[in-house]
Amino acid sequence: MKLAKRVSNVKPSATLEITARAAAMRAEGIDVIGFGAGEPDFDTPEHIKKAAIEALKKGYTKYTPVSGITSLKDAIIAKLQRDNRLTYNREEIIVSCGAKHVLYNIAQAMFEEGMEVIIPAPYWVSYPEMVTLAGAAPVSVDTTEEEGFLLSADKFEKAITRRTRALILNYPSNPTGATYDLDTLEDIAKVAVKHNIYIISDEVYEKILYTDFHHISIASLDEKIKELTIVVNGFSKAYSMTGWRLGYAAGNKELISAMSNIQSQSTSNPTSFAQYGGIDALNGSQDEIPKMRDEFKMRRDYIVRRLNMMKGVSCFNPAGAFYVFPKISSYYGKSFKGHQIKNSLDMTEYFLREGRVAVVPGVTFGADDYLRLSYAISMKNIEEGLNRIEESLDKLSNG
Ligand code: PMP
Ligand code: GLU
Repeated sequence: MKLAKRVSNVKPSATLEITARAAAMRAEGIDVIGFGAGEPDFDTPEHIKKAAIEALKKGYTKYTPVSGITSLKDAIIAKLQRDNRLTYNREEIIVSCGAKHVLYNIAQAMFEEGMEVIIPAPYWVSYPEMVTLAGAAPVSVDTTEEEGFLLSADKFEKAITRRTRALILNYPSNPTGATYDLDTLEDIAKVAVKHNIYIISDEVYEKILYTDFHHISIASLDEKIKELTIVVNGFSKAYSMTGWRLGYAAGNKELISAMSNIQSQSTSNPTSFAQYGGIDALNGSQDEIPKMRDEFKMRRDYIVRRLNMMKGVSCFNPAGAFYVFPKISSYYGKSFKGHQIKNSLDMTEYFLREGRVAVVPGVTFGADDYLRLSYAISMKNIEEGLNRIEESLDKLSNG
């Protein structure tokens, strides 16, 4: 079938694809350890589920206003004030079907042919694809492990051209777990203001942070940068609500209104009763968050230590999120049964077939020397998965 030109460049989400492949292997009876899925393994807290069930019982099963119900917008406004010292009004908030949908709407509303969007690499797989789908050009700017995988203001400024429209910043980062401190954010903000570049600030991992400083939203630094920033957040990570498909953005009201128009012609409102769950997530008890974070931290400490003990592997210590991003390129060039492993895709394939371990290849995040492992799985599976990785690496021979 002849498809539209725009889709010829679009790749399916590698993170979702690898998760689906691992699930398919499991369905065939093969026991695969899945480090692929970027989704918390905890259940949604009970009080949130109850709120959604209540909403169903009350008959809140109809369309809602396209950009979300007022009481959820108010809960989001209160959250942004409380956690991020940011003040917004209702016209500056939109609720969509996940942070992914929010980002897609932003790309459709802001970008077009002739524009460039700066994306620091390693980046989350969907950013370049969304920019491409909107007709604009993603401009990847490499950050190194030595730089803590952080974009410096200097590198940011050097990447700016007359065509640059926006920078996509994600902290804590998927896949590296790196996050920005106040000083670096201030330097980046100065460059953005000087050149009038918008910042799409994806803060979905804000609550999963192991540093002794709190998450700081770049929008909160001053009024000028706030005007240029669109804050993106959601419920998937902090409240273990991936399947609910609920996310939101706060920013310029013209942009929010344009996003709402796009939404009105595509998905309409996010699911009515999910929105009621969302209100309770933000207004109700936050007690589950530190419990989840402590568990993730314990897993992080274990997985980083084990990976760094493996010969030829080095692993950056993530400050947040629930991923590790080990460097494994010292194994490139080695072989198994005559097949040479040349890159992260080959390594992923080898781990899956030989080791029965699913990981995500670094190349899809713009860093081919690396692999991504999600530690949103049980300690038992992490231990077993790492044993399999270690054994698989040992089986590789030179040449
Ligand atoms: N941003 C980042 C950095 C992510 O890792 C994800 C994946 N969960 C999302 C946005 C989208 O999250 P969701 O659509 O589930 O809210
Ligand atoms: N964000 C998660 C990940 O990176 C979920 C999958 C996706 O939406 O791509 O694994």
